[in-house]
Amino acid sequence: MKRPTPEEIRRWDFEHVWHPFTQMAEYAASDPLVFVSGDRHDLIDDRGRRYFDATSALWCNLFGHRVPRIDAAVRAQIERLAHATLLGAAHPAAAELARRLVEIAPAGLTRVFFSDDGATAIEAALKIAFQHRLLVRGKEAAKKAVYLSLDNAYHGDTLGAAAVGGVALFHEIFRPILMPALKAPSPYCYRCPLGENRASCSMECAKAAEETIAREADRICAVILEPGVQASAGMLALPDGYLQRIADAARRHGALLVLDEVATGFGRTGTLFACQKENVTPDLMCLAKGLTGGYLPVAATLATDAVYRPFLGRYEEYRHFFHGHTYTGNPLGCAAALATLSMLADGSVIGDVPRKATVLREALDPVGAHPNVGEIRQVGLMCGVELVADRASRSCFAADRRIGYRVCQAMRRHGVFIRPLGDVVVIMPPLTSSDDELRRVARALFAALEETLDG
Ligand SMILES: *Cc1c(COP(=O)(O)O)cnc(C)c1O
Repeated sequence: MKRPTPEEIRRWDFEHVWHPFTQMAEYAASDPLVFVSGDRHDLIDDRGRRYFDATSALWCNLFGHRVPRIDAAVRAQIERLAHATLLGAAHPAAAELARRLVEIAPAGLTRVFFSDDGATAIEAALKIAFQHRLLVRGKEAAKKAVYLSLDNAYHGDTLGAAAVGGVALFHEIFRPILMPALKAPSPYCYRCPLGENRASCSMECAKAAEETIAREADRICAVILEPGVQASAGMLALPDGYLQRIADAARRHGALLVLDEVATGFGRTGTLFACQKENVTPDLMCLAKGLTGGYLPVAATLATDAVYRPFLGRYEEYRHFFHGHTYTGNPLGCAAALATLSMLADGSVIGDVPRKATVLREALDPVGAHPNVGEIRQVGLMCGVELVADRASRSCFAADRRIGYRVCQAMRRHGVFIRPLGDVVVIMPPLTSSDDELRRVARALFAALEETLDG
């Protein structure tokens, strides 16, 4: 069979593909990148140009592309079984992966509910928390159930996940069809919603969350947040001690704690999971993105035995969790995940993240001195550079100038593939990036700022 030409591919893409988070009218008039292959940390387009992938394939790729050990694991699995259902049946890859996840997760998380994406892992956690309340406290308590989440939170785009989200641009237009949720202020220190200053405040944002948890204790079935960093909000680093305070308040008042480690998990912040930095063990933990090394969609919702046990009973009591997806725990994905975890097992990759984070931070010094850079926020190899029209007043650029977008387009001309979140340039490189590659991203960003903003 004749393979389609690059021109045909471009035409079919324009004519038929509806791209996510993309203004298609503009896209149709653009010259998009068409990636045809990957080589270590680079993507190669249909014209043979190479780009360092500073998005890690949208935050999921840990070691780059065509990783021999993951390739071999997926190939070996495909020789045996590509897919079988987990609905009332088992397969070795899911069983082995569940066991590995329980071994490496914070102690107490002993059950693994598989799904496919970050959003599906969140949906499962939210529904488990609700049904847990129903089973433990009865119908009347369940009727009142609400979730508490943070402003600026991002937990995915399905309706349940969006309901506990708080990124205005993504979520607000859907508000009429989202279930109501309680919100606590975002710990966005650079633009503190409470008008405080990190140097002098006593974490009034945490206090506000604690007060809501105490006041609404009989209604809140779960508190959900991203530990360490509110990533999609523009890499907002949580203040030290914040997570611990929220976790304590949730525990004190009988609300389950759901931690969304979809972005932070698997070493991005310098520890395997971000919650380990504050010794917090959640009741439910959501994993996706990095779990398969960026290969295949597998996600997991981990639960404690205390969360799991009330679901047990005789069939006709209908206590079991009525929830699942067709491709849940796909064997190929589980094989990729097992290979990924074995590559992280000796600790050397994650152990080197803090050093690499320093290399990146130092390389970004000239960027930090640029008059249109308001703040550089970094936790491990998750980094956001917030661009501002005026540094002193922290005023934003007019949205129609699309500064973040234009800076990222300019970086592509310097061989770096990157995406902004509004006017925050997000640098999320693979964990195995070399020092040179990290410095190259910083240099490309500096050059792009000069080209886009000067003159
Ligand atoms: C990306 C992300 C999600 C959603 O994951 P998908 O796989 O895109 O559905 C959820 N939570 C966080 C923190 C994320 O960064």
